[in-house]
Amino acid sequence: MKTIDVDRSLCDNHGQCAIAAPAVFRMNSDGVLEYEETFDDALLDEVEEAVDVCPVQAIFLKD
Ligand code: SF4
Repeated sequence: MKTIDVDRSLCDNHGQCAIAAPAVFRMNSDGVLEYEETFDDALLDEVEEAVDVCPVQAIFLKD
C-alpha cells in the first residue's frame, strides 16, 4: 500500500489535488489542505492524478 506525504513547505493550498481526488484531499473551512495518509488501492489513479496536477509538486507517494 502506498502512503501520501505532502510537503507543507511547498503546498500553496490552492486545492487542485482536492478536485482531482476528493476522497483523499479536501480543503478545510480555513482553506487549508487536509488529506488521508493512506487510501484504498481503488483510488490510486485519482491520487496519481492529484500528484500530477499539483502545481508545486508537493505531493509524494511512498511505498
Ligand atoms: S494541489 Fe498541491 S499545492 Fe495545491 S493544495 Fe494540493 S498539495 Fe497543496
